[in-house]
Amino acid sequence: MVAVDVCKILAGYDKNKISIATLGSHSALNIFKGAKEEGLRTVCVCLKGQERVYKHYGLVDDFIYVEKYRDLLGKDVQEKLLNLNSVIVPHGSFNAYINQEEMETKLLMPLFGNRTLLRWEVSREKQHEWLSNAGLKVPKIYHSIEDIEGKLAFVKFPGAKGGKGYFVVDSAKAYKKKIKDMIKRKLITKEEAEQPYIQEYIVGVSVYPHFFYSSLNQEIELLGIDKRYESSVDGIFRIPVPELLGQKLNPSFTVVGNFPMVARESLLNEIFSMGDRIAKEAMEIAPPGCIGPFCLETIVTEDLRIIAFEISARIVAGCNAHIGGNPYTYLKYGEPMYMGKRIAREVKTSIQEGRIDEVVT
Ligand code: AMP
Ligand code: AMP
Repeated sequence: MVAVDVCKILAGYDKNKISIATLGSHSALNIFKGAKEEGLRTVCVCLKGQERVYKHYGLVDDFIYVEKYRDLLGKDVQEKLLNLNSVIVPHGSFNAYINQEEMETKLLMPLFGNRTLLRWEVSREKQHEWLSNAGLKVPKIYHSIEDIEGKLAFVKFPGAKGGKGYFVVDSAKAYKKKIKDMIKRKLITKEEAEQPYIQEYIVGVSVYPHFFYSSLNQEIELLGIDKRYESSVDGIFRIPVPELLGQKLNPSFTVVGNFPMVARESLLNEIFSMGDRIAKEAMEIAPPGCIGPFCLETIVTEDLRIIAFEISARIVAGCNAHIGGNPYTYLKYGEPMYMGKRIAREVKTSIQEGRIDEVVT
């Protein structure tokens, strides 16, 4: 694999005119708002026809229009981004729509974060390895549908699908029936159906903490917590019980939005410790380890065990529920702070201290 020479690119940048650039989707508003608040320029690589929202909020200095997200890797687009001294901030759409190997080998601009960790994130097996090697509690993995007999299992499919087409089963027979139903409803494709990832179903409530590892200060920060609003599983209990009992429903988990939350204070020590352990393990598996945001998806059980079932090595969309700040960032900063702004502040500080090469790969 040919690595991109980020140092060489950085050497040619005008450090007084750094732009924060990202794809116009997922958490771009959060990232742009933060950059503007920190006095940095912004570039939106935007799908033609999707510019309305980004224009409406007036947060973008330069638009670069593309037909599809992957065009970010095209020569013309990259040339424009390089001329604007762009630092790329990755988010969920980079995972969903751009091949991670190409992100590592073809994306020329410096990227805020660790490209190698982004690759760990796209493989569920690698995520599981990262979480369990860090000593976090994780769900069991079932390698065959026969193993789930009599137990509750959660079935997922490849890629960042935002829960679309995922379902819960308790037997191999139910699995076969439900998978056919999901294909029929076009929530998953036949190819996806051949690559199920089956986890033990954890009974509890979802708690999704958002961390920021400042590689400049070598410190973990907790920037917020969210929980998700998922269709149709969160809608199903609005059906009155007599009617619900008569239905043979097969709800799925397509994420529609997020709620901000605060956790019981006695859980915070463990949450911080999980963040520490993840960052320590990241240093082992992919030096230089975590840079900036990483977020966990966890379920907290009735005996207050925190089970981690996913990790993202970047900003997650749940951070959007905290634009403007939240109790945790207020406690630490006493001013409005949120992921997009924290990213921009780290970039700004790194420029001021002549350490920008430490926060990009
Ligand atoms: P989109 O541009 O909305 O298609 O989102 C890009 C990727 O991020 C997709 O894989 C989505 O499933 C995922 N995504 C978008 N919004 C959220 C959210 N609020 N929570 C979790 N994942 C999300
Ligand atoms: P994911 O796309 O992996 O974030 O999963 C979508 C949703 O499924 C999550 O927000 C949780 O509500 C739920 N979920 C995922 N994995 C599990 C699990 N192992 N046990 C229980 N619920 C889960």
